[in-house]
Amino acid sequence: MNTSESSDRVSGPGQWPEQRASSEAWYDAYGEAYSALPGRSDLRCPNCGHRALRIVFTGHVEDRVGYASFWCDNCRYGIHISRVSVPDGVEILPLGESAERRRRVVPDYRIVPPPDRDDVDPMSEVGEDMLVARSSEECHLYMELHPCECGEEFFEWSRHHLEERPDHPRVSVYEGTCARCGRERRFEFEVPAVSPEPGRYGDDGPSRIIDPGEFLVSSRQFAGNVPPDPGDLAVSELGYAYNAIDLAVAGVEETLKFVPPGAEAVPPEAFTSELGRKTYDADPDAFTRDRLERTLAEYIAVRDPYAAVLEE
Ligand SMILES: [Zn+2]
Ligand SMILES: [Zn+2]
Repeated sequence: MNTSESSDRVSGPGQWPEQRASSEAWYDAYGEAYSALPGRSDLRCPNCGHRALRIVFTGHVEDRVGYASFWCDNCRYGIHISRVSVPDGVEILPLGESAERRRRVVPDYRIVPPPDRDDVDPMSEVGEDMLVARSSEECHLYMELHPCECGEEFFEWSRHHLEERPDHPRVSVYEGTCARCGRERRFEFEVPAVSPEPGRYGDDGPSRIIDPGEFLVSSRQFAGNVPPDPGDLAVSELGYAYNAIDLAVAGVEETLKFVPPGAEAVPPEAFTSELGRKTYDADPDAFTRDRLERTLAEYIAVRDPYAAVLEE
């Protein structure tokens, strides 16, 4: 009766068919489909056998870098591949597209977990893609900005390691126990092979995981702990104070990166976190190019004497 390998696994609404293909088979299929671009391959789905595989890229339209969603329209399984270059002639869905518009192009589908992972990390399930950090400094600030459920902000991780995964070449993993409530906490970031200079959050281009309001708040906090006159501190405190004011400078530099070329201020839609939006609403003028440049100059003026004493 059943002459086609693909006719009997289509499921009714609300019921997911089974997923039996290995993640390697999915990555192989992706590789083939990718190399056929901008054409369409008539490859069969590694899971259900239908010729219904689709690739959509989401990312930066100008530099043609993004992540790939690769799925089967029939069985609705697939994988994510992060940071790939998008071949010429292939459309890129801009980052920040509304969920509704996005769903018209990319349906909800189930992610086939990469090998060597028993569990799918909830963060990558919800956020659909891994947190992409530009430096360890940026990972640290992100963790500070995301307190434990119990409210404890300070997270002293006890374990840190790098992992290589098929879809993420360098994953920086921080793990530890919350000092207040005892919960096990874990953060995962995709990190680049080459870091910016120490004390900097990233090279060109704005952060993808920390918004301008969060950067400015952290800068104010760092700067607030540093007296303008290094003479007010003990010699043993000078190094710490220098690092703090230097990070305050770096945070304002990051905030400025959210001002689009030719614009006069950070646009309201750049504020994507609750803290960021609150900070913006309280004083939108703090995010004009002019004000940010003045804040930057202020912090640099505090930093300079510290740099001078430390050089002595
Ligand atoms: Zn399928
Ligand atoms: Zn806690």
